Amino acid sequence: MYNCKDSINLLMDYLDGEMSPEDAQHLREHLRGCAPCVDFLRTYKATPGVCKRALAQAMPKEVAEKLTEFLRSKIKSAS
Ligand SMILES: [Zn+2]
Repeated sequence: MYNCKDSINLLMDYLDGEMSPEDAQHLREHLRGCAPCVDFLRTYKATPGVCKRALAQAMPKEVAEKLTEFLRSKIKSAS
């Protein structure tokens, strides 16, 4: 079973459009039993202007890294 940190890393890959079906399955299994990660995903998806394409292409790398860092620390403190 993946822990929250693994799942967030997977999510980042997923948002970059790089996730194997196997990893996607692991992620889904984790999300089923983990409210903080579900909240994370919901918040992430609900953030205006942020989607996987925006992150990958439109957002300056520095901003994307700061956002990722922020979201990761948020999850860390919630667990
Ligand atoms: Zn989790």
